[in-house]
Amino acid sequence: MSNLFKSYSARTDEQIREEVEKFRNCYPKAKQLPVPVVDIIEIDMQIEPVPIDYLFSQVGVIAFIKSDCTELWTDKERYYSAGWEAVSRHDLAHEIGHVVLHRDILKDVRISSKDSWMKVQGDNKDAIVKLEYQCDEFAGRLLVPRDILLGKIYVLRGLIRKMKKDIPAIEIDQIKSYIAMIIFKEFGILDKIVYERIVKEKIFEELEIS
Ligand SMILES: [Zn+2]
Repeated sequence: MSNLFKSYSARTDEQIREEVEKFRNCYPKAKQLPVPVVDIIEIDMQIEPVPIDYLFSQVGVIAFIKSDCTELWTDKERYYSAGWEAVSRHDLAHEIGHVVLHRDILKDVRISSKDSWMKVQGDNKDAIVKLEYQCDEFAGRLLVPRDILLGKIYVLRGLIRKMKKDIPAIEIDQIKSYIAMIIFKEFGILDKIVYERIVKEKIFEELEIS
């Protein structure tokens, strides 16, 4: 594994979240909800999405960013299929994560083709798992700003109290999933991502809901 991969893979959630907030300040569109990731990529970051036929079935990835950060290759079938907007929004936000967090790696490994990407993946498997995790964390925080999530759940405290009173056996995780199902549409992503943010950002803990 190269040292570059090693040093980048050691970053913490907190460091990733700081990078997201810096990004949000640089690109004010990222303060809108749902976050308009396609506009940010195409207009603000000047990266061209290039849909590729059967990218996933050929290479096993749904999207990747070219080394010089000028093109974002996406799986055409997935990118354009009906009902995939919520999933695509997360996929693309994840790729923004690679540009922001891993630009030096992208430059260093010079990914210029599907084959070169597969070679890099094979050589750095363990680090890549961590880098992929970082980009999911980046995407989650970008698409679900913590202060907004906190505010939305704050106003639902009465409903949560009522749920606990009406259904004494309900588990706290079930309440979190239910709340995610109430609010996920506003973020334009799947409810399971909103649920993950509630858990990872420790929203219930901060609001002292237990
Ligand atoms: Zn990735």
